[in-house]
Amino acid sequence: MAENKALFLDRDGTLIRDAHYLKDPKKVEIIQGISEALHEARHLGYLLFMHTNQSGIARGYYDWSDVHACNKKMFQDFGWPKDFFTEICIAPEEPTATEGYRKPSPKFEFEMIEKFELNPRKCWVVGDKWIDPQTGLKASMRGALVKTGKPITIEMQKQAASEEVPIYENIAEFAKKEILLHV
Ligand SMILES: [Mg+2]
Repeated sequence: MAENKALFLDRDGTLIRDAHYLKDPKKVEIIQGISEALHEARHLGYLLFMHTNQSGIARGYYDWSDVHACNKKMFQDFGWPKDFFTEICIAPEEPTATEGYRKPSPKFEFEMIEKFELNPRKCWVVGDKWIDPQTGLKASMRGALVKTGKPITIEMQKQAASEEVPIYENIAEFAKKEILLHV
């Protein structure tokens, strides 16, 4: 029986400040105060995944090595071990792509459910854009929004309310309310 639990985290606007087509590691700015809650979730047995849309690759604005360099800087600044995430999915496709890993496609989440025997009911996809919780819902997971990135519009608030997607100040508040209080 698949019983493992996991958090799928967006990068830009969720773990680090949203920067338009970020390619320079020097411009990586981590969101303060969120790391401890993620460590705690990990200790409670949550597998952590990062799922990030990076259409700048397909658009030719930057390449894979730029994304890897920015990720490396993020890990350094947070002080995370190399294995902090079980797997990282960087989706390089443009929004017009009809296949691939770009959110809101739940292809990555489905693959991880299979590979790590996840129970989707015990998993979350969290990020600052509607496509983040939407990806979770499509994979029969839960979804949550955080206010650390792109503005949460009235439209998003309505949609979130109708689909039982909670909205939190940041990942730390999400983890405290949804994970750490329920153990
Ligand atoms: Mg984002």
